Amino acid sequence: MTDALSRLLETRDWLLADGATGTNLFNMGLSSGDAPELWNVDAPDKIRKLYSMAVEAGSDLFLTNSFGGNASRLKLHQSQDRVFELNKAAAEIGREVADKAGRPVVVAGSVGPTGDIMAPMGSLTHELAVEMFHEQAEGLKAGGADVLWVETISAAEEFRAAAEAFEKAGMPWCGTMSFDTAGRTMMGLTSADMVKMVGKIGHAPVAFGANCGTGASDLMRTVLGFTAAGAEQPIIAKGNAGIPKYQDGHIHYDGTPELMADYAVLARDAGATIIGGCCGTMPDHLRAMREALETRGRGERPTLETIVDQLGAFSSASDGTDGAGPTRAARRGRRRG
Ligand SMILES: [Zn+2]
Repeated sequence: MTDALSRLLETRDWLLADGATGTNLFNMGLSSGDAPELWNVDAPDKIRKLYSMAVEAGSDLFLTNSFGGNASRLKLHQSQDRVFELNKAAAEIGREVADKAGRPVVVAGSVGPTGDIMAPMGSLTHELAVEMFHEQAEGLKAGGADVLWVETISAAEEFRAAAEAFEKAGMPWCGTMSFDTAGRTMMGLTSADMVKMVGKIGHAPVAFGANCGTGASDLMRTVLGFTAAGAEQPIIAKGNAGIPKYQDGHIHYDGTPELMADYAVLARDAGATIIGGCCGTMPDHLRAMREALETRGRGERPTLETIVDQLGAFSSASDGTDGAGPTRAARRGRRRG
């Protein structure tokens, strides 16, 4: 237990993670269709600003701008031969910002899905997935990331391939899945399934949990599912700031800083240790979350009724752990954290 995240977890009973990389970069002028990872080299000042905004808002940990930095995703931008370079640059800028913070701040190297469907359902083999994740992991490691962080994963096969790649790179790691389909991941996993799956991984994560998905309420229900299933590692909660709504040609998230402050405290009461936001979460949300975590005492483990009262309705009646709901949903567009 010598990595920076484990050390920080020993001294604190909660950590504030960061917010949305995508939402913040779009606000800085990124166009949808652009590869944000190219900015690590072409516009490093913007990436420095992105990280600094999270640190200044009180984050103890932030994710690097490398979510789509694997060969399969970068190929869409003819940059598949720049995986190492772009990931190293993402982590180097992160290292620089974290080391200037004046308090311990963890640089977590973000690794998103390959975007391909894995065998046996799809054509991406386990070996190739491990190779792709490994290439990215080595770049993030070379740039000085403290831990690796695979996120927004929906298939157990892909989560396991990432774990194997991180072991090859000799790096500690965290991993989150997105439970966006009536409480399950797109590939049908429930919160309890994930706890079971994580328990069988040899190179165990430092922490694991959920990110993105639907709204903050659904994510809270998933966190309750993790604790009910006997999660052994610290739990990560990175929920979206409310529910996405299409408005005037843009996606808006309706969650206010006050709502995210309530969510942060509820997530801690539910058993999460690393708490942050995902899509729609801006520095104002993070500041409100930090203040709430620092000033409000711990409460009872919230019931589903409390969650609905404070954060709004769930998107589905069941979270799937009772056997209800769909098992495998049709594939939809990818999302970025
Ligand atoms: Zn998200």
